[in-house]
Amino acid sequence: MGYPDTQLFINGQWQDAEGGRTLAVYNPATGQPIGRVAHAGIADLDRALATAQQGFEAWRALAAVERARMMRRAATLMRERADAIGLLLTQEQGKPLMEARGEAAAAADILEWFADEGQRVYGRIVPARNPAVHQMVLKDPVGVVAAFTPWNFPINQVVRKLGAALAAGCAVIVKAPEETPASPAELVRALADAGLPPGVVNLVYGDPAEISGYLIPHPVVKKVTFTGSTPVGKQLAALAGQHMKRVTMELGGHAPVIVCEDADVQLAVKATASAKFRNAGQVCIAPTRFLVHESVRAEFVAALTRHAEGLKVGDGLQEGTRMGPLANARRVAAMKDFLGDARQHGARVTTGGETIEREGNFFAPTVLDDVPLSARIFNEEPFGPVAAVRGFTDLQDAIAEANRLPYGLAAYAFTRSLKDAHALARQVEVGMLWVNQSATPSAELPFGGLKDSGYGSEGGPEAVEACLNTRAVSITPV
Ligand code: NAD
Repeated sequence: MGYPDTQLFINGQWQDAEGGRTLAVYNPATGQPIGRVAHAGIADLDRALATAQQGFEAWRALAAVERARMMRRAATLMRERADAIGLLLTQEQGKPLMEARGEAAAAADILEWFADEGQRVYGRIVPARNPAVHQMVLKDPVGVVAAFTPWNFPINQVVRKLGAALAAGCAVIVKAPEETPASPAELVRALADAGLPPGVVNLVYGDPAEISGYLIPHPVVKKVTFTGSTPVGKQLAALAGQHMKRVTMELGGHAPVIVCEDADVQLAVKATASAKFRNAGQVCIAPTRFLVHESVRAEFVAALTRHAEGLKVGDGLQEGTRMGPLANARRVAAMKDFLGDARQHGARVTTGGETIEREGNFFAPTVLDDVPLSARIFNEEPFGPVAAVRGFTDLQDAIAEANRLPYGLAAYAFTRSLKDAHALARQVEVGMLWVNQSATPSAELPFGGLKDSGYGSEGGPEAVEACLNTRAVSITPV
């Protein structure tokens, strides 16, 4: 199976890093090296900054309708190339081929939505208190955006940031994940092939801390957008704050799933079980803390356990694989720690709980029941294929538990009571709540969190707004 080395993309050219430095890329299903990725140094970043500034001037000067045309062309290319790109994504990240192809195709949908939304960036006329005065509100692109993205959805995380920024008329320097570099590079290739002027999109890899430490304070960069863990997000937001840069932060989550006494239990299992083990649980909105009413807990746990046991785990390239390996060895070590701690605290393992003895980073789909609040898994983001269940008897207690953690990204709830659905909508402190359904994070809806899960949105008109400056202009004729 072919897997390319990945270069930097600066000023419309694919290129090696100055000095030729590279990093190895591994297949998490085998642990074997499969290619290399260029490691940018400061000289490369300086070139990316200079060209991004020029790219910005060229891009903002185009009519929104023309920018939209190019973005739509890139979307068509992504759709045409989704099968080939999926093969790269599975090799570098591990997710099953169907999920990988789906991620590449979904990028097309996101680009198209933002292409359209970019044509709806309007200012306003505001009637003045003095009728002779002409008052306007103007919207302008913020300028060059620095985007930092992780390895769990290597294409999706980039396209959400690029889509919004390009729609607003901004240029972008993307620092994509070193562990999964080839698939985001294909997204950038599609944009370049669609005719984007040089410098509008630049792609670098290297030492994440060095790159963010250089780009965020740099005067050319006007906005920072990051997806990743809460501790790193706080560091980057603090740095951006010191330099008064606009920020969007999409950080960790610990999604509660509240299954009420009157829930359709089979629907609750169906809607959350696949989501729990999708991408081996390495999803920021993955269902994690299952809070299940005592009257339906046994039925729920039995069905969730059956689902987990029925999943075919293996190399994502193989037909029929439903869950691949974890993306890196760090996650396997983390799962072992979570499980050791949960067992020590008295949680009951109904299935899984162990690594799978074979090459690669495999961990069995796991369900834990009777998990005490003190267990680490009920407090820290597991980012792996582990569902943690505990019971409740009073809905208000379940809502209080949902809100106990500093995270506030996503939540799920299942109830047949309209009254309880509205109470959940009002009281659960998250950026995204799905009631009686699985997650539907489509491009037109805001995507983002509250509290330690970050701020800002990566979907909906809010995502474009976050890449715009708002200015008030009053003209008095003389
Ligand atoms: P990590 O926290 O070091 O890195 C998370 C991401 O941030 C990576 O993509 C990394 O390249 C990047 N990063 C780290 N330090 C950076 C810096 N100084 N400047 C710019 N980027 C930086 O560790 P990890 O092992 O990669 O992931 C661990 C945890 O991160 C996971 O358990 C999960 O909680 C969280 N995570 C969240 C998401 C998400 O979608 N929100 C994605 C990936 C990881």
